[in-house]
Amino acid sequence: MSELPSELRVAYDSLSRCYGVEVAVIAHEGLLYEYRGDASRAEGLAAIAPSLAEGDGVAYRGGEKAVAVAKRGEFSIGLEGDPRALSSYLPQLARIVRGEEIRCAWCSAELDREVISCPSCGAPIPLTVGRCPKCGAHIEEVECPRCRKPITHLGTRARRSHGSLASLVIGIVLSGACTTIAAWLSAPLPLLAASAISPFIAGLVGYLR
Ligand SMILES: [Zn+2]
Ligand SMILES: [Zn+2]
Repeated sequence: MSELPSELRVAYDSLSRCYGVEVAVIAHEGLLYEYRGDASRAEGLAAIAPSLAEGDGVAYRGGEKAVAVAKRGEFSIGLEGDPRALSSYLPQLARIVRGEEIRCAWCSAELDREVISCPSCGAPIPLTVGRCPKCGAHIEEVECPRCRKPITHLGTRARRSHGSLASLVIGIVLSGACTTIAAWLSAPLPLLAASAISPFIAGLVGYLR
C-alpha cells in the first residue's frame, strides 16, 4: 500500500474538526482507513468518496447532508455534514491538497490548515474562511498562530499597520504644524528642530513596527 499523501493528512486533521463536519474519513480505495464520527456513516462515505472526485481533485455534492471530497492517487478524504459549512470549506480543502495555501504576509506560515474559534460564536472554523458558516460573522482580523501579528483572513497585514500608517501621516502633518508655530514664536533653532522631528519619528516608528 502506498503512503498517505501528507497534504491529505493535513486537510483531514484540520477540516475534520471544524464546525458542521459530522463525519470525516480517510479512504484507501474505497475502504475505511481512518475516520471521525459515526462508524456506519463513515463506511458509506469511504465507499462513495473516490468516485465523487475526478482524477486528483476536489469535489462537492450538495444536499441536506453535503459531501466534500479530495483525492490523491489511491487515497481520498471525505467530509460529510452541514452544506453551508462544507461549501465554505472547499477553498481551504482545494488549496491544502494542491500545496497552495494562503500564507501569513508577516512570517509565511501556512494558514488554510489553521483552525480558530469564531470570535462571535466560538465555533471552530478555518482561519481563512472569512465568514463564520454558523453565525455569519465576518472575520475582520485574527492573530497569526505563528508570529502573533494581526492578519486578515487572506493572510494580509491587518489593522495595526493601517493605524500606524495613519500615525505616520499625522506625524508628518504635526511636524509641519510644529515647524510653523516654532517659526512664529521664533524659538531657538534646536527646539524648533526637535519639535518638528519628534512626531515624524513617532509616526515612522509606529509604521515600521
Ligand atoms: Zn505570521
Ligand atoms: Zn460564528
